[in-house]
Amino acid sequence: MLQKDKFITTFSKSTTNSPSRKPRKLPESIPGSPQDTLVQFVKGVGPKLGTIFANRDIQTVRDLFNFFPRTYEDRTRVQKISDLTEGARATLSVRVQSQRMIPIAKFGKSLLEVRCANESGTLSLKWFHPPRGIEKRFQPGIQVGVSGKVKFYQGRPEIVHPEITWGVSSDLGEDGPHHHSFGRMVPVYVEIEGVTSRTLRNILWQALESFGGTLPEELPDNLLQKWSLPRLAPSVRALHFPPEEAAYSLEKLVSFRTPAHERLIYGEFFKFEYLMLRKRLQTTRVNALSFGRREGRDQMESLAKSLPFRLTGDQKRAVEDIFKDLLQPHPMSRLVQGDVGSGKTVVAFLTAAAVIAEGGQVALMVPTEILAEQHFRSCQSLFQGKLPAALLTGKSTGPERSQIQKRLGSGEPMILIGTHALLEDPVQFQCLDYVLIDEQHRFGVDQRRTLKSKGIRTLANGTQVHPHSLILSATPIPRTLAMTAFGDLVVTLIREMPPGRSPVITKVVRDKTQRAKAYLQIQNELKSGRQAYFIYPLVSDSEAEGFTQLKSAIAEAENLATEVFPEFRVGLLHGQMKNDEKVATMERFKKGEIQVLVSTTVVEVGVDVPNSTVMVIEHAERFGLSQLHQLRGRVGRGSLQSYCYLFTTAKEEGPTSTRLEVLEETQDGFKIAEADLEIRGPGEFLGTRQSGGLPFKVANLVRDAEWLIRAREDAIQILKEDPELKDTKNSALRQYFVREGGRAGERLFTF
Ligand code: ADP
Ligand code: MG
Repeated sequence: MLQKDKFITTFSKSTTNSPSRKPRKLPESIPGSPQDTLVQFVKGVGPKLGTIFANRDIQTVRDLFNFFPRTYEDRTRVQKISDLTEGARATLSVRVQSQRMIPIAKFGKSLLEVRCANESGTLSLKWFHPPRGIEKRFQPGIQVGVSGKVKFYQGRPEIVHPEITWGVSSDLGEDGPHHHSFGRMVPVYVEIEGVTSRTLRNILWQALESFGGTLPEELPDNLLQKWSLPRLAPSVRALHFPPEEAAYSLEKLVSFRTPAHERLIYGEFFKFEYLMLRKRLQTTRVNALSFGRREGRDQMESLAKSLPFRLTGDQKRAVEDIFKDLLQPHPMSRLVQGDVGSGKTVVAFLTAAAVIAEGGQVALMVPTEILAEQHFRSCQSLFQGKLPAALLTGKSTGPERSQIQKRLGSGEPMILIGTHALLEDPVQFQCLDYVLIDEQHRFGVDQRRTLKSKGIRTLANGTQVHPHSLILSATPIPRTLAMTAFGDLVVTLIREMPPGRSPVITKVVRDKTQRAKAYLQIQNELKSGRQAYFIYPLVSDSEAEGFTQLKSAIAEAENLATEVFPEFRVGLLHGQMKNDEKVATMERFKKGEIQVLVSTTVVEVGVDVPNSTVMVIEHAERFGLSQLHQLRGRVGRGSLQSYCYLFTTAKEEGPTSTRLEVLEETQDGFKIAEADLEIRGPGEFLGTRQSGGLPFKVANLVRDAEWLIRAREDAIQILKEDPELKDTKNSALRQYFVREGGRAGERLFTF
């Protein structure tokens, strides 16, 4: 029996340490299980293949089992030669008639041609540089199974480099266990160089024979019964060698809807959600000061009343959500998600005001100086100095810094707005109770943790308290992804936009004529006093710009200034400019001294210039939809009609081009995000935040959303009933986590 303490230490250790990618190590109390045997010891593998596998992260038998097929091919139905068509994949049973070796080059290279036939016609099989000795196996008269892609050469069907199944009887009734490639549903794997799919199937068959039966179950039986899902061992076997049952039809297999697939999908989601939700639960064991009673609420309400606008319904709801959390004696971990321009900043400020009114200190960290300054200024102007604030960036002078430090050290209730500079050691708060992080995806988990740790302290009465934290994200994230990538946070959505904004008219611009027309329209906008952005892409999402791109932005700025818009002032902004230069240029744009701002994606981050009504994005096909949407959000901020032109060289019919049309059709960031998730996968959203991506091998957030929701509900239930998994009915799960140590979720925790 495992001790409870053992479980908890294993668990909490792995959730508080920073992510590591060390090879799996088993706790000493657990004997190494057979699945941890190295792949090279599987019959038929050996050191050479073992190395090839290891290079693909397939080190143990368990890894091998988890190398699931990408898709399946139907080889149950045997086709007639007379029905073959060019380019189709075919599976046939044929009798060898004759063969010949044809020399094709000076260096002894040759072509092997094997002529075969059955009742429905004749077929050639061809090998260039055939494996040595293979020709000896094609004795005239023997029956073989053949599959591969059909080509017609001089009007006759042939298959080049077919997959051969030996020893097939003419009526196809028999298929030896180690062939598995004929007369059945055959799995197709991601290619591993140097290993044919046939070899892979043989190895998997051997591994399953030797080790498959001992695969320990990971999920509680009652949950498997609840969803009528099979146990782990038979499921793994069925994924690699689908049984001949209706539930494993080709359609079910390729759509990952067999019982075995669903079992694996559910299992992956369940384990993951359990970890995430458990992490969330753990915050209720930690203390925080509670805020937002009388004084804080009064202050919030009076500031809200004095705003130059009225809060939207969603903004009000968000403020209330946050207040509910701040009132708790445990730290808040909340994510506010809202489209660009939905007004998240004021929500953050109003809740900060409550904390400040009750004596707390607040930190607001943003990714760029431009944004920090903008936030600081809008804090001043929105609240007319009623919210004590300070600004700290890389630009802050020594005297400014010591002044700030003095205020913080004296415990003055205030909000400190700044960049990464907030993370520096000398910045010490006396009572940091509320941590706000804007544009969260620009920060790494370590940075978020560092800022938060500045608020962890022990009170005079000996209680340790943690700060509340609120994370703001302008990238609408699909629900399923939010449940996984931010599973450890509570999410508030702001979907409603402040009133008086008309949708940005968006056009995909493909050719010269369209471009000329767009320039004309832009000129009209500029003539009536509006401003325009021209954006150039970056390859990576760091600020390190590729030389050629930088060059093209500079060249284009020149071209726009002299050729296209000679009567207007054109400015240039890019990541390799000095910070003051950047801020100065931005400032001139804000004041209207520059009408056209040519920029690389540095402006992506929350810049607010309501007079700009045109957004042009060059090479739009290089951006993800959400990012384009984000950029588009720079215009249409006032009540003026705005325009977005997506310049692209991608072909009209291509998928890239169709993808861009989503932006012509909708302004709803969440819809765009869903489309992006479908097209580009979760990486688009997680970006550098979780370089490892989500730990799902079989499960897919788009395809399997309903299983994610089921798994999440079940995980919530278990955490309610038996959070430490002490109940014997949960022992399989408990043992799984002891083995894995919770590593699966750790990389994705926000703090
Ligand atoms: P984001 O959610 O992208 O961070 P901001 O907080 O920067 O958006 O808000 C964008 C602009 O909208 C700001 O100028 C802000 O003052 C303004 N704003 C915020 N809320 C409202 C509202 N309810 N009505 C009108 N304007 C608002
Ligand atoms: Mg913002």
